Amino acid sequence: MRFTHVYVEERAEEYPLTQKILEKLNGADVIKIRHYKDVFDRKRQNAPLQKEHQALIIAVRDGSRIFKGAPVCQSMGQKNFYYASSMMNCPFDCEYCYLKGMYPSSNMVVFVNLEDYRKDVEEKLKEGPVYVCASYDTDLLALNGLTGHADFWRDMARTHDDLLVELRTKAAVDVTDNISNVIYAFTLSPEEVVERYERHTASVDARISAASRAVENGAKVRLCFDPVIRIPEWKDAYKKLIDDAASGIGFDRLTDVSVGTFRISADYLTKMRKAYPDSEIAWYPYFIKDGIAQYEPGLDKDMQEYVCGLIGEYTGREKIFTWN
Ligand code: SF4
Repeated sequence: MRFTHVYVEERAEEYPLTQKILEKLNGADVIKIRHYKDVFDRKRQNAPLQKEHQALIIAVRDGSRIFKGAPVCQSMGQKNFYYASSMMNCPFDCEYCYLKGMYPSSNMVVFVNLEDYRKDVEEKLKEGPVYVCASYDTDLLALNGLTGHADFWRDMARTHDDLLVELRTKAAVDVTDNISNVIYAFTLSPEEVVERYERHTASVDARISAASRAVENGAKVRLCFDPVIRIPEWKDAYKKLIDDAASGIGFDRLTDVSVGTFRISADYLTKMRKAYPDSEIAWYPYFIKDGIAQYEPGLDKDMQEYVCGLIGEYTGREKIFTWN
């Protein structure tokens, strides 16, 4: 991954991880800044253009680092469900990504004070077992070679039995461990969706092979058919995808499967439409319910039931989780 510029917050300089990242980006232009928000939260940024020339911001995260899961996220049957934000933004560029409505910038931020994340999780663990989705606002596995953040969460899981970590990805990563409390969640989309809306991600075949290898290694693997996108021939496309996935990966060996139709907070959708006036996904005439933009109720239900039905041909329905 090539970043055009690297911004480093003054107080992040002393962190060993900052130095490690800078060594790996040998040759990048480094600009010192006071606070990451001075760059990331600037007004009138051109987020689509920034995506073409992405900069990296190395910073220290104060305040909240671990958040309660939002209603649009799936808890996968877990009680104390949190997500962590140790990086913001993603090397990939999915047209439907809610981050486009959430952040004012497309530049990536990597936080280097991981020890504070450790303390935060340990604090939560005092109240009982905790489930953390560590890779929600980014793709930690895709960038692990540079940041080591996925390794940090794996290490957290290894050393804390009551912690369950999900690492979600659209990369075709090689999973070489089988830590019992780490779930590798591979998001799969039909080829048509990958080609049209998931720029820079791994091909769906490569993701299926990676998930299959992870299962062979004894890792816990989740498949995510989320978001399910309404493309013209969506029924055929999702049937082919699920048949292909099932022939590559023994579905009975999966930990579980998540299914969710596209949905986004109505507020994020408004921002996304403003920033991306030509986006087909953003400008679909969604139905707004309880502040969440989603497909019209009949279609939404049909899509979810159809995809669950296809998966149900290969594995028990009790393994399939949906967001609503
Ligand atoms: S991989 Fe996930 S986080 Fe990254 S751009 Fe796509 S939807 Fe967003």
